[in-house]
Amino acid sequence: MKSHAKVVVIGGGVVGCSVLYHLTKFGWKDVVLLERSELTSGSTWHAAGGMHTINGDPNVAKLQKYTVELYKEIEEYSGQDIGLHLTSGLMLAATPQRFDWLKSILAKGRYNGLEATLLTPKEAHEMMPLLDPDQFVGALYDPVEGHLDPYGTTHAYARSAKKNGADIYLHTKVEELVQREDGSWRVITNQGEIIAEHVVNAAGLWAREVGRMVGLELPVLAMEHMYLITEDMPEVIDFNKTTGKELMHCVDFDGEIYLRQERQGMLMGTYEKACRPWSPVTTPWDFGHELLAEDIERITPELEVGFRHFPAFNNAGIKKIINGPFTFSPDGNPLVGPVRGLRNYWSACAVMAGFSQGGGVGLALANWMIYGDPGFDVFAMDVSRYGDYATLAYTNAKVRENYARRFSIRYPNEELPAARPLLTTPIYDKLKEAGGVFGAYYGLEQALWFAPKGEEDQFSWRRSNDFDVVGAEAKAVRDSLGLMETSGFAKYSVKGPGAEAFLDNLLTCRIPAIGRMTLAPMLKHDGKLIGDFTLAKLGEGDFLLIGSGIAEAYHMRWFEGLLPKDGSVELQALGLSLLGLSIAGPNARKLMQKLTHQDLSTEAFPFMSIRRMDLGMASAIVGRVSYTGDLGYEIWMKPEHQRYIFDLLMEEGAEFGIRLFGLRALNALRLDKSYGSWSREYRPLYGPLEAGLGRFVALSKPADFIGKAAAAKEKAEGGALRLRTFILAAKDADVIGDEPIYHNGAVCGWVTSGGYAHAFGLSVAVGYVPKEIADEAQGWSIELLGEILPARPQVDPLFDADGARMRA
Ligand SMILES: Cc1cc2nc3c(=O)[nH]c(=O)nc-3n(C[C@H](O)[C@H](O)[C@H](O)COP(=O)(O)OP(=O)(O)OC[C@H]3O[C@@H](n4cnc5c(N)ncnc54)[C@H](O)[C@@H]3O)c2cc1C
Repeated sequence: MKSHAKVVVIGGGVVGCSVLYHLTKFGWKDVVLLERSELTSGSTWHAAGGMHTINGDPNVAKLQKYTVELYKEIEEYSGQDIGLHLTSGLMLAATPQRFDWLKSILAKGRYNGLEATLLTPKEAHEMMPLLDPDQFVGALYDPVEGHLDPYGTTHAYARSAKKNGADIYLHTKVEELVQREDGSWRVITNQGEIIAEHVVNAAGLWAREVGRMVGLELPVLAMEHMYLITEDMPEVIDFNKTTGKELMHCVDFDGEIYLRQERQGMLMGTYEKACRPWSPVTTPWDFGHELLAEDIERITPELEVGFRHFPAFNNAGIKKIINGPFTFSPDGNPLVGPVRGLRNYWSACAVMAGFSQGGGVGLALANWMIYGDPGFDVFAMDVSRYGDYATLAYTNAKVRENYARRFSIRYPNEELPAARPLLTTPIYDKLKEAGGVFGAYYGLEQALWFAPKGEEDQFSWRRSNDFDVVGAEAKAVRDSLGLMETSGFAKYSVKGPGAEAFLDNLLTCRIPAIGRMTLAPMLKHDGKLIGDFTLAKLGEGDFLLIGSGIAEAYHMRWFEGLLPKDGSVELQALGLSLLGLSIAGPNARKLMQKLTHQDLSTEAFPFMSIRRMDLGMASAIVGRVSYTGDLGYEIWMKPEHQRYIFDLLMEEGAEFGIRLFGLRALNALRLDKSYGSWSREYRPLYGPLEAGLGRFVALSKPADFIGKAAAAKEKAEGGALRLRTFILAAKDADVIGDEPIYHNGAVCGWVTSGGYAHAFGLSVAVGYVPKEIADEAQGWSIELLGEILPARPQVDPLFDADGARMRA
């Protein structure tokens, strides 16, 4: 075995081999893969080998498309047969709600070039005669689906990598990882030791254990999974004979099953409700090429539906039942990327659909390691989307929920209940008492709306029972005064003699004066957005940075990678040690002035001011800003003061009819102003000019901030896209995000978010379109739940276009 390598990839499943191949493809030859047994000795060998491009997240869908398109290339390059069967596929809907969902998937895929089509049950039956058309209301046909041989595919990646110069050592188990002072790793195996600059955890079923070798508890858990294979079926033989084709891949969501042809019989697998984790605490090292005991009773309810939907199965003999484990993260997407706080340790695990996603994971990770950037927007599978709250028990609850719901519909207004409540703030009970309906973001319970007694969300694709109440909450803000909790934002303290220079280099904005705030976009080196913050200067060398809550670990990883080594900057994610409340509306100042002796007049405390002040008996940091776009204040306090300040605001605000509002009303209010939000309008896909943030990019400031050259180029050349707001002729539903935007009948862009602007009674959609047509007044439409609806551009914000109220 070699003594040194640039990279050691741990694990020779389909994912590790794909990572190895991509590293060599992009030019890193000194790379090694260590496999404790033979290649495919984890979950890979017994996979059903199904693959498809469709995914609810368009960014993940792109990587799946890449994976499927890669197969021909690696087969040819390696000379290894991968048993590719591109049969095409059907996604079936047995209920109108499911058919709505399929329509939304089709719409989302349009701007990514998804070539799918909707079918009637009769048309679906003509393509796939095993299904009973009376059981379904419609289907989505996807030409790019099929299955392959897991063993051959893994070996094709491995052979291709070897051909490019990689080394693979089998029967070499990594037992310990010790970091050296220079950041490289001692990779200690049962066959000796290798020094590696980087290690990649692609240990699949043992990813948790390989994480624990460096003190990491990765949120990943294996679940048992079963599929059955039938004896030869006359219906299959007959179809093959008469058409010369194989039967196609099918996902029957309402039956919670998938099926495909296997030789001259069929394979049917389920994501059963009565699911079972495998090895919930530690994975045994002696587990290898063996299967788990079959347990047909556990999957009988799903099989019964499957057999009803596909009656030919009733006459088929069952040849084999496979039960094997494979891993999931809490939301079912992979955990990819550099691990925060660890140098040169990379994650490529929790890949539950290795044959749809393995290529994309390998591509993104190799890009990241070699070029410092994944090359795509991979937040949906970035390991940093989870924080410390994602413990072993949290992961267990969420993975079971996710597995059991793998084929279930998640409505846009549906919050999933497992592992909740976990993180709460001191006023949680008070908000709950007031009717709070909550969602959990980054583990924290946050109020969405305040329901009348006994009511909860009725899940729907269309406007639901919260509609009028959310409207009243939003109107209360515009008419008088509203209060919401803002603890869910991420808050960072940046202090020290080097803090100002650090931030000046990190953010595109000018550093504000003491007592002032500014909007602060953050760019990558290529000039794309990786953050949008509010930056406040509290004192000399003392800054508060406020950003998106879900991106806390993601942003900390970025900040920490750029901190000066001389200790001149003290950076801390404040998490729930600093909590927030916000009041907004025309009476906001009157209320605040009742609580403090400080002068809050516009002259003394204008828009974008920030200062520490006492509110009653409590001390807080108060900023004159509100994401509602209204006259408003953000109040930041220690947790032990939150109940007191909350009660004070509610009591003293009673004379103005203060009303609690939640995140849904906030969404309506920010739409009135066309404000963007992180992970929707602002993502690593867009430049600041495209996103309408150009005025916060201070190209003339002396600091050579990250992305400056690229931002200057974007400004000179104009970028490609523009963010625009549209008013949609919607009737009973509003956009959610990812719907296609049409201009003169052709798809030209996509919605990033939207909703209903209650104060104006208008359905709003925000999205990106090509700059060349962005200012056209006519010709726009947007597809919503299968209908193409006329849209008109909204050039100025609906509310307070000149900012007079906000700055008053
Ligand atoms: C029954 C079943 C059906 C499935 N059907 C499909 C399907 O149709 N389509 C699809 O896309 N996916 C399917 N999957 C999921 C698929 O199998 C996984 O997504 C995929 O195998 C994950 O591959 P991996 O490389 O991440 O992990 P693994 O296959 O688990 O590979 C990890 C490898 O790392 C090695 N390793 C671990 N620790 C060490 C160490 N310390 N030192 C050295 N080596 C180590 C292991 O020996 C193993 O070979 C199915 C899974 C099951 C169980």
